[in-house]
Amino acid sequence: MRVGQLTHAYIFEGPAGVGKFTAAQALAKALVCGNRGCNRCEDCVRLDHGTHPGVLSVVPQGVTLGIDQVREIARQVILKPAEGAWKIFIIDDADAMTVQAANAFLRTLEEPPPGVLFVLVTSNVHGMLPTIRSRCQELTFNAIPGRDIAALLRERFGFDADEADLATRVSGGVVGKALALVRGPGMARRDQVLSLASDLGVLDSLDLMNAAEALATSVRGGARQDAESKEAIEEAEQFALDKRHASFIRRTLEQRAKRDVAQRERIAFEDALSVLDSWFRDLVVAVEGAEELLVNLDRREAIERCAKMTSSETALACIGMIERARRMIRHNVNPQLALEAMLLDIQECDPCNVS
Ligand SMILES: [Zn+2]
Repeated sequence: MRVGQLTHAYIFEGPAGVGKFTAAQALAKALVCGNRGCNRCEDCVRLDHGTHPGVLSVVPQGVTLGIDQVREIARQVILKPAEGAWKIFIIDDADAMTVQAANAFLRTLEEPPPGVLFVLVTSNVHGMLPTIRSRCQELTFNAIPGRDIAALLRERFGFDADEADLATRVSGGVVGKALALVRGPGMARRDQVLSLASDLGVLDSLDLMNAAEALATSVRGGARQDAESKEAIEEAEQFALDKRHASFIRRTLEQRAKRDVAQRERIAFEDALSVLDSWFRDLVVAVEGAEELLVNLDRREAIERCAKMTSSETALACIGMIERARRMIRHNVNPQLALEAMLLDIQECDPCNVS
């Protein structure tokens, strides 16, 4: 993308984890850095710390992005950038704008002063007002074909073929997810979920509750660890231009951290549900004799053993229960309670009773 071709507003859309926000930051970096994003100059370093005065990232306060935040953006837009300088707004989860906020934002979007650029990042572009979409240029970020991810994991990150293959199958084409899986605690959590799934038939209800609690604790712990720390906020503040800028930075980073923990927790629980989902999907595949479609190749034996004791209907019913738990978590039901209720339902359904 050459600078001459830029319009003043973009929507970066696509599934979570495919690198939309990173791309938005890279675009900002390419514009503010005198050297096309060298990663070393003051501009690049400030941008990485979230303290570049010309690049403001906006995240929803809580569940929605409200009118107050849009008014703050409008105020910042009016403070024109210095000649030749950029003022770039990266708005994350832009679909979280309330209708009122979106309508107010339309006016800001209409005719911003030169040098102002908006990048709206969203994984739910259909949740945005058509009037906003029509004023932006949309760029779609897609999940990447499995063979490309596997090759990337092998060649660039040095994972062996089996690891790369498994992570790719499990990640559903999202590079960020595949990498997080092979690098982080993702694989251990996946093991935990799959072991629980294969043991469902032999666990009594107390064991089951204990297992659910252990899983919830590990999911939560992982999510917390990833969120931003106090030290990072203090460090970032030191880059501020003045008091007002410092408090802006602090507010943004604190909001982001708070939101991060809640959001990461929800995502981590949904990831755990996806793993469980893949188990029952594999059961259906095995019952139907289509083993070449198995996702959890490393569990082939347990899946085939379980498949002998169940039917597709039962496994599909369990998938329905997982979907219900996912919806509950999205509607802010306590994830651990949703998890426990779901596991009890699944056990009742008796997917692979060994007795
Ligand atoms: Zn630079």
